[in-house]
Amino acid sequence: MYIVMIASECAPVAKVGGLGDVVFGLSGELEKQGHGVEIIIPKYDCMRYDHIWGLTVSYQDLWVPWDNGVVHCTVWFGFVHGRRCFFIEPHSSQNYFNRGHYYGALDESKRFAFFSKAALEFMLKTNKRPDIIHCHDWQTGLVPVMLYEIYKYHGMWNQRVCYTIHNFKHQGIAGPQILWETGLNNDAYYYHYDRLLDNFDHTAINFMKGGIVYSNYVNTVSPHHAWEARHGSESYGLGHTLYIHQNKFGGILNGIDYHLWNPDTDPLIPYHYSIDNFENKALNKKALRERLWLRHDENKPLIAYVGRLDEQKGVHLIRHGLFYALHRQAQFVLLGSSTEPWINSDFWHLKHHLNDNPDCHLELGYNEELAHLIYAGADIIIVPSNYEPCGLTQMIALRYGTVPVVRGVGGLVSTVFDRDYDQLHPPEERNGYVFYQADYHAIESAMERAIGLWQYYPEEFKQLAINGMKCDYSWARSVQDYINVYEYIRHK
Ligand code: ADP
Repeated sequence: MYIVMIASECAPVAKVGGLGDVVFGLSGELEKQGHGVEIIIPKYDCMRYDHIWGLTVSYQDLWVPWDNGVVHCTVWFGFVHGRRCFFIEPHSSQNYFNRGHYYGALDESKRFAFFSKAALEFMLKTNKRPDIIHCHDWQTGLVPVMLYEIYKYHGMWNQRVCYTIHNFKHQGIAGPQILWETGLNNDAYYYHYDRLLDNFDHTAINFMKGGIVYSNYVNTVSPHHAWEARHGSESYGLGHTLYIHQNKFGGILNGIDYHLWNPDTDPLIPYHYSIDNFENKALNKKALRERLWLRHDENKPLIAYVGRLDEQKGVHLIRHGLFYALHRQAQFVLLGSSTEPWINSDFWHLKHHLNDNPDCHLELGYNEELAHLIYAGADIIIVPSNYEPCGLTQMIALRYGTVPVVRGVGGLVSTVFDRDYDQLHPPEERNGYVFYQADYHAIESAMERAIGLWQYYPEEFKQLAINGMKCDYSWARSVQDYINVYEYIRHK
């Protein structure tokens, strides 16, 4: 099959979170299985250009119809660790992708509506007629809408769309102006409950709802989260839309790129290890302590958090977990960044407060290299999310023999099985600790069990870590589900 991915991120060139990892990892695995994959993303000024090989102009003058005029774009091509990527660069005074950051602009819906339009226009003009267009999250929700309402009539009638929702919280809400800018026009037609009208704000259209309504298949990134979205409040108001479209909605568990995330070959960690020489992990712990100026103490487990600092991630529990770890004579390392000013300043404050503590380090910002060392050097990782569509950090931690302590929501339920209480898996498949309530007692009791095992039963702790390393959360495991979906919608 010939598949085109359209997304706002692709790791490691443009990555904010798991979306970038998924676009990169899934594309690579599809290629391995013999499919042709191309990726289209915006050409951001702040991308990691050092991860692009052979960047050249692919299409010099792409004129994208926009707001009753045209916007001149150039499309670039380059390889991102073997993935074929196209980068769209608009030349307009709005500077849509030259903002020094990926997200958080005031004209966000306009930026990505434009990108979606430009991606379709590029495919049309260059005669790209993929079997499958795979779109991701709200940023590309208008792709299937424009495909079926506009581009179908220009020759793109045979393309099918798979739409993957990585996070229901951000849906892309906009006013009627967007309809005129994209050329969809006809307000009355789209401002309809069955199409793009937001389920609660009747003055607005909702990009993600458009993606759900118009795509041939819709999925979120774990079966458990699909259930939560359908039956709980995790779909942030799209529950009824999912109910109407339930026959084409499901959950497919993300994988991680086992090539990139491999403690046995990872170029970003100083000591390689696997199940057979697990003792080398301790050398990475030493290296991590040295790098972050933590004291060396044989009796202290090292607990970590890696991820965005966002309400979704349970910042109050992360903060509490940090203090509880210190209270229990453990060490704590945090790597995270936030786009929310109040969360950001709270953690900066905390960082200054704990600056001289030899058992604690907070690294505020995004740092891919340090993330690898933390996964390799930590003993335990906490993931106390309020909700978590899939979560990659716990899967990466498992791969690196770092025991996850997670809250039992979304994809965390599908990947981490409690050592003491899980009833569905035999002891040799249990790989971490799970708690359910979003309060301090719950996280404390799970952390206490993990710290206690590390302190008093080191051999059993090691066995638990090795159980985690034996899990298979590679893309090789999940890719077949996507291929089945593609085949199904292609022949429907
Ligand atoms: P989300 O997509 O909600 O941000 P995931 O757990 O699905 O969360 O994916 C997070 C990915 O981003 C992981 O690969 C994690 O290592 C990485 N990551 C998150 N924050 C940082 C950071 N500050 N520095 C380096 N990597 C980070």
